[in-house]
Amino acid sequence: MTSQTSPYPHLFTPLKIGRHTVPNRILMGSMHTGLEEQGEPGLARLAAFYAERAKGGCSLMVTGGFSPNLDGRLGAEGGIILDADADHHQQVTDAVHRQGSRILLQLLHAGRYGYHSDIVAPSPVRSPINRNTPREMTEDDIQRTISDYARAAQIAQAAGYDGVELMGSEGYLINEFTAPRTNKRDDRWGGSFENRARFPVQVIKAVRAATDPQFIIMYRLSVLDIVEDGSPFEEVAQLAKLAEAAGADILNSGIGWHEARIPTIAQAVPRAAWTWATAKLTGTVEIPLIATNRINTPEKAEAVIADGQADMVSMARPFLADANFAAKARDGRPDEINTCIACNQSCLDHYFKGKDATCLVNPRACRETVLDWKPAEIRRRIAVVGAGVAGLSCATTAAERGHEVTLFEAADRIGGQFLLARHIPGKEEFNETLRYFNNRADAFGITMKLGTRADAAMLEEFDEVVVATGVAPRVPEIDGIGHASVMTYEQLLSGARQPGKRVAVIGAGGVGVDVAVHLVERGGTSHLDPAEFRATWGVGEPAANHPPAHEVVLMQRSGGKMGSGPGKTTGWVHRLVLHRARVEMIANVTYRSIDDDGLHISVGDEDRVIACDSIVLCSGQVSINALADELKAGGRSAHIIGGAGFAGELDAQRAIEEGTLLGSRL
Ligand code: NAP
Ligand code: SF4
Repeated sequence: MTSQTSPYPHLFTPLKIGRHTVPNRILMGSMHTGLEEQGEPGLARLAAFYAERAKGGCSLMVTGGFSPNLDGRLGAEGGIILDADADHHQQVTDAVHRQGSRILLQLLHAGRYGYHSDIVAPSPVRSPINRNTPREMTEDDIQRTISDYARAAQIAQAAGYDGVELMGSEGYLINEFTAPRTNKRDDRWGGSFENRARFPVQVIKAVRAATDPQFIIMYRLSVLDIVEDGSPFEEVAQLAKLAEAAGADILNSGIGWHEARIPTIAQAVPRAAWTWATAKLTGTVEIPLIATNRINTPEKAEAVIADGQADMVSMARPFLADANFAAKARDGRPDEINTCIACNQSCLDHYFKGKDATCLVNPRACRETVLDWKPAEIRRRIAVVGAGVAGLSCATTAAERGHEVTLFEAADRIGGQFLLARHIPGKEEFNETLRYFNNRADAFGITMKLGTRADAAMLEEFDEVVVATGVAPRVPEIDGIGHASVMTYEQLLSGARQPGKRVAVIGAGGVGVDVAVHLVERGGTSHLDPAEFRATWGVGEPAANHPPAHEVVLMQRSGGKMGSGPGKTTGWVHRLVLHRARVEMIANVTYRSIDDDGLHISVGDEDRVIACDSIVLCSGQVSINALADELKAGGRSAHIIGGAGFAGELDAQRAIEEGTLLGSRL
């Protein structure tokens, strides 16, 4: 039975899970925010975070991972669920239940992925992404761990959780038992499939026996390991059946271990590129199946359900980006959704750098208790100059609070640097952010003055002036910099200039790496088309060897690792793309001169000529602050945000955060 009134009728059809019925097919999947490790204060902030999503129409959600015991914690301070914690967790479950939604606690034993010295695993096989080698679990360890899962589930039930998700994928402990890659045991827990499946089956049975029948058990099944010696599909299907028989109420999907070298959630992955893997399981079990990964719009989620690929769709990061995702979809307001752009920059990258997760496009995420804004007490006339993301976030936040806002932009459209970045493969998602801001500007009645270069005289009538005039590419001082082969990244990405076949890129920061990827993949669709993605990355078959669109040399003056870009969790994807496209990377470069022969450089004692048709400048940015100077000279105070204030290290995260914070205070 499908909902007749929703624009996404399949998505908004109720689903029976165990003894519960949820009103729609949307799951807010587990996300580790860093707050899990902060005891009671962290749980208080999580309560507000989850409650806001529940209020925003999300009817079922899973927490970040909590370990059932000390060995399984993610880091030295990793979150564990202990008897004493039940009261503190109660505030989370109460907050969600008050909104009529349900919440499951994720039980995650990190196994050999734990970042501490006491890690354990089925066999002492070190992970390539961890310095520590795990200790092999004894029979006693295994029995104790199974009991710990059962005890943890009982605590979760006492704390009011509606169930647990047992993390059986991504290469964590349970997955380490099921895959031959990490299970080298020759006792009853290793060897044959039946033996390797024994641990998850015993865990599910123990949790089922320890909890009430209405307590939901969601099992996160690794439908694809994407590592050598992972489980073949036949074993995945058998494990699905065993999990159902052992007492699981619903199966979620896990795609790829953390050490997999094929991107699974980054911008290089097309939307809904992995749902086929869950779809292969349809008909195998009676219990519902959940598809996941890079599903960030209600249209995609609806298509997954309508096409029968799964019974439910898990979205995690989209709920960081927009707490009201589900309600906006339900009410037919998809254009109002602040779409997750899959950048990982403020969520996963933050977590792995030891910072609390938040969201690049929504700085309020995970800060609901500390970053809140109220309607303005006095309605002021505010001018915001510059409609890049700093200006847009400031203008829309101030307007939402009731101010009368006018937004000046010299170009004929909003977006600033995002208009350029959206030409980078995978960054087409930035178009969604601009659609969102456009929509908000309309909704809050912002007066848009596009194609208007504001000067001090035009700003006299305003109570407050915000200068968000952004940045311009830095042009370095190199002999011959005016040569016809030289262009800025702005000229390249805007299409104002066309590059030749052989291109030298000066500067290997975030923009240099992006430009190199843009050049080698020009015209490619592997980030948009799932079939092309699979062929390019060799999912299921050897990778196709596409010749790069341009021959690229990427250079920097400093030493050290090149081409990492800014992303801790995505840098390796860029490096792999550039490596496969045979991009030459040269560090410790001194730029000498440019002429018809190309770019003359020195590397140590060696002089070289990089013969090239084009040279693209990605050598950082300088602030555009003429207006700020003019206002200052006239004795006028102004707020300066984004790149106009400080170009160095400016990225979209800082721009949006600065704009939002100022908009919330004005
Ligand atoms: P950047 O990361 O600071 O890199 C600038 C590059 O230019 C460096 O490689 C620098 O390295 C070189 N450079 C600086 N001055 C130079 C000079 N006078 N002559 C020659 N080379 C010079 O800046 P960006 O690449 O323009 O990026 C701007 C911001 O956007 C950064 O914060 C970046 O993280 C962010 N961004 C983020 C993403 C993302 O995907 N999240 C993508 C793009 C940009 P050497 O001094 O060693 O030569
Ligand atoms: Fe999505 Fe980026 Fe926000 Fe993470 S930081 S939720 S990837 S938009």
